[in-house]
Amino acid sequence: MTETNFRTDLDADGILSVVWDMPGRSMNVLSADAIAELAEIARRVAGDAAIKGVVVSSGKKAFSGGADLTMLEGIARLYATEKATRGEEAAAKAVFEESRKLSQLYRFIETSGKPWVAAIDGVCLGGAFELALACHYRIVSNDPSTRVGLPEVKVGLFPGAGGTTRVARMLPPQDALQMLMKGEQIRPDKARAMRLVDEVLPKDQMIGRAKDWIREGGKAVKPWDEKGFKLPGGPVWSKPGFMTFPPANAIYRRETQDNYPAIRAMLQVVFDGLQLPMDLALTVESRHFAKVLRSPEAAAMIRTLFVSMQELNKGARRPKGAGELPLKKVGIVGAGFMGAGVGYVTARAGLEVVLVDRDQDAADKGKEHAQKLISTEVAKGRVSGSERDALLGRITATPDYAALADCDLVIEAVFEDPKVKAEVVAKVEAVLREDAIFASNTSTLPITGLAKASKRPERFVGIHFFSPVDKMLLVELIVGERTGDEALALALDYVRAIKKTPIVVKDSRGFFANRCVIAYMLEGHLMLTEGVPAAMIENVARQAGMPVGPLSLNDEVALDLGLKIIDSTRAQLGDAAVNPAQEKLLRTLVEKEGRLGRKNRKGFYDYPEQGKKSLWPGLADLQETKLDPETLDVAELRNRLLVAQALEAARTVEEGVITDVREADVGAILGFGFAPYTGGPLSWIDAMGAERFVRLASALAEIHGERFRSNALLLDLAAKGETFYGRFGGASEPASAAA
Ligand code: NAD
Repeated sequence: MTETNFRTDLDADGILSVVWDMPGRSMNVLSADAIAELAEIARRVAGDAAIKGVVVSSGKKAFSGGADLTMLEGIARLYATEKATRGEEAAAKAVFEESRKLSQLYRFIETSGKPWVAAIDGVCLGGAFELALACHYRIVSNDPSTRVGLPEVKVGLFPGAGGTTRVARMLPPQDALQMLMKGEQIRPDKARAMRLVDEVLPKDQMIGRAKDWIREGGKAVKPWDEKGFKLPGGPVWSKPGFMTFPPANAIYRRETQDNYPAIRAMLQVVFDGLQLPMDLALTVESRHFAKVLRSPEAAAMIRTLFVSMQELNKGARRPKGAGELPLKKVGIVGAGFMGAGVGYVTARAGLEVVLVDRDQDAADKGKEHAQKLISTEVAKGRVSGSERDALLGRITATPDYAALADCDLVIEAVFEDPKVKAEVVAKVEAVLREDAIFASNTSTLPITGLAKASKRPERFVGIHFFSPVDKMLLVELIVGERTGDEALALALDYVRAIKKTPIVVKDSRGFFANRCVIAYMLEGHLMLTEGVPAAMIENVARQAGMPVGPLSLNDEVALDLGLKIIDSTRAQLGDAAVNPAQEKLLRTLVEKEGRLGRKNRKGFYDYPEQGKKSLWPGLADLQETKLDPETLDVAELRNRLLVAQALEAARTVEEGVITDVREADVGAILGFGFAPYTGGPLSWIDAMGAERFVRLASALAEIHGERFRSNALLLDLAAKGETFYGRFGGASEPASAAA
């Protein structure tokens, strides 16, 4: 047998070490090859009396990231080809047979009669953790990098290689459902407390202990394969069962608005599976998995949230030929709300930080922010006291610009005022190394204009963070007219170092994300002025898949900021660019009612000191017309909210603001939560077809006006029956779009 992905070694006691170590990859994944090789090993183990047991570990830094999603995409694509040649039924059967192979292999291992132990160091996720769950004993290392989990729901799938069925038999159903629905990566101690793993040990003791467990007669039979097995939470048809499943269904609907077929299927698998013997339960799981794999939601989410995101994270947009630049020390000027956050994430990534503000107090305040955030992490047990001290030791807070002299990159986050920014550019460049890069975190000012204050505009770039910086994963990199490749390359390297996802955007008003967000909020404002009840606007937005309604979102970014944007839009583009109904609403709220948003606890919502926010009752008094909710077309309201954003995204492509369609979709989901089940606004248009989208938008334009008119690009795609991804490339076509 040739060993490519796994190395095996049989010791004197008959214990086979299986070390997973795929060549040419930094991380092990379950590819078709790796699965076939593992299957061969499993058969050898079962058939060779000299082998008493198996210890599976990894030869890499991590155990494994799970299934190769491009392989899953391939299986989904099989459906399309089979359907075309052999019909629907045969196609569905082919996908079922293909997609259950891993589940069957794991069941074979579980019932082989030989004990298998998983020794896990580093991350072990998805299909790899499903392998561990099929093993008879699990030991994880106490290394800070170790995590186990089943994150499949995050890409529109659910654990389909027995993971769902096994977790439901290992944990009480509430805990199982919670774990499966959240898809979290779980730390060793918590995994042990949940009984997902059996032991937590220092990594150098794991293999020895695993072998001991086998030598001491470790049992190769799972509890559910023994007579008299009792489910940890009792039978489904029992009082505790009734207290679990109906509420679980309600929670699913509350959290997902029934937009995620994978999560719905997973609930069904748990509910049905717990009433069936193991093998039948696994078959039910496989049937649902095959169906979910063929869903447009899974195809779109895998493409955007896994394939495209990974490509962008790995530097897909890094200019070819731009060499490596040093990146050890980063200066941040302006230690306010944003600058302090940028300082924290930069120091967290292990880089040296110089935090400069107008005086020592202001600079210290910025550093205090980092102290607060990292202390919370220590309190949660995620970071040790010494790591906290080291992080704070990396941040120098000072009013002295001279401290920036040896920085590789300086990011300014001072007031949004071109004059102040120009002064800062001059002061920084007076001390900065010739080859260092200067970046601005401006949210509205053109980079090309700001770079005019620079002596070296080719080393000037926009790095636009979103707030709160420590939570938001997206960073927009803004390329000004004179920004050079090295500046962009270093900005990309920096974003990679701080583990965020970059999109590269042309210098233009609102860049990408804010343009779409503004369109979303405008729609919410206009609905309100038309007389739609505020609660309905917010609920409809969530039904459409948005994480927060437009009114709530506006409260977060501040209502007076909305008004400022209206003022600057008028100044730059004239009266016609401003919507009078929106302006009147915001002026009344800000100038007459003093309602600025969450920051002063009064916006569209009231924010009491204690308790939950609630919509401000006074909103109804601002509505000149009040529409009867019973008469409103909910689907139309939903469409308005998504179509407005998707049209704006399509415009950014036509205008060359976005040059890579993957970035629009990834940016929209990470930047403002565009309904993730769609895979992003362009994937959404592609999935329904440009022609249908244009018809939908035109119908809205007839009722609500020109803002819903499709641009020339959309009309052209519609006329030619093309898609964004088809025309502009990027990642592969989603599997089921071809179906
Ligand atoms: P802020 O008012 O909280 O912070 C600005 C900081 O800059 C203050 O601490 C101030 O003392 C300091 N400062 C001003 N002039 C300075 C100078 N000459 N030298 C050194 N320090 C100086 O503002 P913020 O919300 O953090 O915004 C900063 C920048 O980030 C702006 O350009 C803004 O458009 C952009 N931005 C903000 C957000 C957001 O959500 N607030 C999001 C993205 C980008």
